[in-house]
Amino acid sequence: MIGWNGPMLTDSGGYQIFSLGHGSVSEEIKGIRKKQKTLIKINEDGAIFRSYINGKIYCLTPEKSVQIQQKLGADLILVLDECTPFHVSKEYTAKSMLMSHRWAERSLNEFEKNNNGKQALYGISQGGVYQDLRRESCDFINDLPFFGQAIGGSLGQSKEQMYDVVSFTMDHLKKDRPTHLLGIGGIVDIFRGVSLGIDTFDCVHPTRLARHGGALIKVKNRDSISSKCKEHINLRNQQFELDNNPIESDCLCFTCRKHSRAYIHHLLKAKELLAYTLVTIHNVFFMNKLMASIRQAILDDRLDKEKNNWISEIPLHFDLASL
Ligand SMILES: [Zn+2]
Repeated sequence: MIGWNGPMLTDSGGYQIFSLGHGSVSEEIKGIRKKQKTLIKINEDGAIFRSYINGKIYCLTPEKSVQIQQKLGADLILVLDECTPFHVSKEYTAKSMLMSHRWAERSLNEFEKNNNGKQALYGISQGGVYQDLRRESCDFINDLPFFGQAIGGSLGQSKEQMYDVVSFTMDHLKKDRPTHLLGIGGIVDIFRGVSLGIDTFDCVHPTRLARHGGALIKVKNRDSISSKCKEHINLRNQQFELDNNPIESDCLCFTCRKHSRAYIHHLLKAKELLAYTLVTIHNVFFMNKLMASIRQAILDDRLDKEKNNWISEIPLHFDLASL
């Protein structure tokens, strides 16, 4: 359907169900602010939720999630896990981790039933911000025959805590498997993650940011642009009203070759849907360019130098909520 012939990773659907429980995804999709309780119950069997599209009640089990991902033809498949928010207790995190472990075993059994040798399954390390739980979860995932592994669960409240959790988890996961960091996609975070050994990332950040008028830019391109944010500019801001430069002068994306900041500013102000498409094109192009340059820098053994092309020294003291 999407006309993409490259490798594809699918998530289990767990994150979507649990964020529906918190309201964020459904609110954005439906354009409402009111909280809707769509996650009904989580039990040993799976997650029971109400569809925000047709109101029907569904149960997503680990087996069902694997079947769907296999049918979609995904190359890299993730096990279903419970996504716990950062504010839950250690007791809850421990209980949830053990259930996600049992779900991981069920996912693996289901995966093997229809394993055609062309698809691969990832286990997910749980345990929140607690080192003893993380260690236990890493040992559990390491002992199962997964192709790859992901770092999931709560990564904490701040950037510093996230780096600590990821660093600790990386020390305890097997080194010979590809490792995915779930839900992280900021430029600084990606460089930090890559230096810790993370291979792949996924995040709504580039496209969600674009839907709010935020365009990703390299810090070195921020010279004449006043912006509180280090990693993007907000094209809604008045300063772009008469700015005839592209988002980035050295960017070769469709948007930057054809349109100015002023035009996109106008589209955003007029609520023209084209604005979101144009900024999304730039942001996705930007991320692809960033990852390609990181891959090349690793091959050339100059990752630290490459980092300077994208970011400058940024204090770690801003919280995840600001993104
Ligand atoms: Zn561009």
